[in-house]
Amino acid sequence: MGKYKLGVDLGMGYGQPVEVAAKAVAAAGFDACFTGWGEGCDVEGWANTIAREGLIYQSIHSPFTKVHKMWEEGDEGEAVTDMLIACVNDCAKVDVPVMVVHPIIGMDKHNPTDLGITRYARLVEAAEKAGVKLGFENVEGPEYLAKIMQDLGGSSAVGFCWDTGHEMCYNFSRDMMALYGDKLVATHFNDNMGMTDPNVVTWHDDAHLLPFDGIADWAGIMARINRHGYEGILTFELTCKNKPNKHTHDAYAEWTIEEFAAQAYARAIKVAALGR
Ligand SMILES: [Zn+2]
Repeated sequence: MGKYKLGVDLGMGYGQPVEVAAKAVAAAGFDACFTGWGEGCDVEGWANTIAREGLIYQSIHSPFTKVHKMWEEGDEGEAVTDMLIACVNDCAKVDVPVMVVHPIIGMDKHNPTDLGITRYARLVEAAEKAGVKLGFENVEGPEYLAKIMQDLGGSSAVGFCWDTGHEMCYNFSRDMMALYGDKLVATHFNDNMGMTDPNVVTWHDDAHLLPFDGIADWAGIMARINRHGYEGILTFELTCKNKPNKHTHDAYAEWTIEEFAAQAYARAIKVAALGR
């Protein structure tokens, strides 16, 4: 066994119930997993299922489809803040140590506001009280992550979740670990083919391929993990599904969730072996 514990998301593009996905992920050999979250979801039931399969419930990925409202005037921003706080409290309830958060959604957005910081500060305060670390993820619009880290990074509850695929297709391969690696609390390891058009940032390039099926430099990624002394769980965020009009995932089309999880674990072991 290597030094790193390995985890993966329970979705993997299959949309199976947690019972089915957790069984497949445990059978593949993973140590840990993460789930999404929605208001009214059975987080306690999920936690019990995950524990029964012998897996660590590493993180919850908080909802992100409306997080742009956090930065805009209006009641919706308050509602989204309240929703994220409910998610933090659910993490605490089932002893999930990390909640992953997207700072923004929207390829055309580049203007973080002080109002947004006020709302994220409310979330950070709730996370401090709950004893949960927030893993702010590098996504499109890196100005928002930068402002959160600059204004709220002094809190022990503010951490970084490094998405290796987003770095290539959203951040022009700028080294996000050089910026935030000292605050790393979670990883979203995944591969892609880079940017289709070097001038256009699009979610269609955010492939979330299995490691080694894209152009990511996995040796370089693990060198950066080592440089920052990260010894936590290496978590992979993968999907079996093509993005619209893409064929990057065609080779996975016939795989069951069990087969996909087994392939994911084999790649994860290969990645971990490149570390110390
Ligand atoms: Zn991610």
